Order: sequence, then structure tokens, then C-alpha cells
Amino acid sequence: MTDLLQVDRLRVEYASGRGSVRAVDDISFTIGKGEIFGLAGESGCGKSTTAFAVARLLRPPARIAGGSVKLDGTELTGLSDAQFDRIRWSRMSIVLQSAMNNLNPVMKIGDQLADSILAHQPMTMKEAYGEAKRLLELVDLPYDRLGSFPHELSGGMRQRVVIAMALALNPSLVIMDEPTTALDVVVQRGIIRKIVQLQQKFGFSILFITHDLPLMLEMCGRIGIMYAGKLVETADRDSLLRHPKHPYTQGLLNSFPSLTGPKSKLIGIPGHPPDLITPPPGCKFHPRCSHVLPVCSRIVPELRLHGRQDVSCHLYTEEGIGHEQASAASE
Ligand code: SF4
Ligand code: MG
Repeated sequence: MTDLLQVDRLRVEYASGRGSVRAVDDISFTIGKGEIFGLAGESGCGKSTTAFAVARLLRPPARIAGGSVKLDGTELTGLSDAQFDRIRWSRMSIVLQSAMNNLNPVMKIGDQLADSILAHQPMTMKEAYGEAKRLLELVDLPYDRLGSFPHELSGGMRQRVVIAMALALNPSLVIMDEPTTALDVVVQRGIIRKIVQLQQKFGFSILFITHDLPLMLEMCGRIGIMYAGKLVETADRDSLLRHPKHPYTQGLLNSFPSLTGPKSKLIGIPGHPPDLITPPPGCKFHPRCSHVLPVCSRIVPELRLHGRQDVSCHLYTEEGIGHEQASAASE
């Protein structure tokens, strides 16, 4: 699969009253053309911050402190705002959790859709309205909703409008940050089904973010697990489900008993994620890890390919394996 998005050693930092916070800490991943890639992890692990960094929606004091983000070969981090504006919507668009953050409350739906089309494509107003009508039909909304204001629609309908808007200019990447979290389960199902259908029809890639792990496993072909700003494991869905390698991934999957079979107990992970101003040295998960080795508090494990997945854990590095052999020999 050809890479569409390449994120390489990305770092996001912000200054707080108590010191500098590294919210995204040196993470690398790729998304293939036509692939749905998910980022999962507990709240505060840096998944939304990663999405915002890719979509250039970070607000000061948060800033990209290092690394590279390439979309179809174009480096995005160095672009001026004007250059980036040409990419936003036409090559990359974003759907956020609350439709109200994406829609203008005092503009009719039709005007908003037509405006965003006209901002990037030379057309008459009539043609833009024709396009807006086509877009509403794509997401199964009746075209007479073009005359509605956002508050006249239900939450689910508003989110459908936002998805229509995100697809207006046929982007190659759509970033979705908790796109259905604010909606009730039945509405959520319908929208997820629609997203998958549209993705299959048009072939765009999706960076999908949710804290809902069962939903993520249903949607995404490949998934990255984040912990305390780090990517700890990246794997295709089946490998992740059958053979999770990182102890944090194992704990996360175990905390959703329905995923791992009816007999499994809800185990979860004792303890809490660390304070990102003073994170623990070495592997940030080591204070909570039941497999911890002496090397874990000294050396940060790199994300490395192991079998079918990438994992950052000393259980799979030379330092860690060397230690195990050394301690076995000394016993
Ligand atoms: Fe546990 Fe060490 Fe692996 Fe971190 S590196 S997850 S502490 S075994
Ligand atoms: Mg979030």
C-alpha cells in the first residue's frame, strides 16, 4: 500500500505554569492510501493532539516542537498559513466531536456548504448549490435541509452535514476525532455505517480517533495505541486483537472483556497515567507494568518491528532480552 500520510518523530509541546509538557513525544506512523488508521488510548494520551498537529489546528501555547508530517510527499510543518489553506478541505479535512464546532450557527446549511465549495472551486452560486444538494444526498439528508439552520437539525443530522462538508472537495485524507461520541448509540451506528460506505465508495484515507476501543476495532484496518504521548504499539486489527504485544495494549484490551471473549475477567490496569511535566524516565509505563525489567526505568524503548507489529517495549529489545539472559545466567 502506498503511504498517503507519513508522520515522523513528531513532537508537540506546550508550556504550562509548572513547566514544559510534551503532549506528543516522538511518534512515527504512516497511513496508506485508502486505509482507515485508528489512534487509541486513554484520554490525555495525545491522540487528539496528534490529529490537531497533523491538521494544523494546534492553538498556542501548543506547538510542533519537532518532526515531520508529509501528505502525499508534501511536508506540511513548514507551510505558511496561506499554503496550508490550499490543502485544508481539498486534500485533508477534519470532522470533530461536536458538529457545532464545525458549523456556523447563524448560517443556513446550504450557504455554508456552498461557501466552502466556492472558496476552493470556480463555480457559479447555482452550481455550488447543486453540489451542496448532491452532498446532502450522499449523507442521506433530504435536500430541503439546505434551508435549515444548524440548531434546527438533530445532533446526528448536524454531524452528517459536517461529514458532507468534509467530503465536499474530495480530500484524500479525512481526520475524524471522536466523530460520533456526542451521539446516542443508535444514531452513532448509522453514522459509522455511512462513513464506512462513503470511504469504500470514494477511497479516501481516514485517521480515526476514539476512546471507544470496540468501535475502533470494528472500523480500522490498522491501529496505533498511545500512552502518555508515546506510540507504544502499531498493528493490524487482527494481530492486535489476537497477539497484543505491549503490556499496556494487553491491559487496555483486557479492560474490554467483550473483545477478548466471554470468559475473560475485567482486569484493567492498576495505577494512573503519569504527569507529563515530570514523566518517569525510560519507559513511561514502567511504574504500572507487571513485566518491568531493570532496563525499563533507564532506557526509552524505541518503536521497532517485531513480527507483524511495531512495538516499543524492552521485552522485545536487545537491551531487555540481554538482561533477561544475564539474570537467568546469574541464578
Ligand atoms: Fe513494561 Fe518494560 Fe515493556 Fe515498558 S518497556 S512496557 S516497563 S516491559
Ligand atoms: Mg480527545
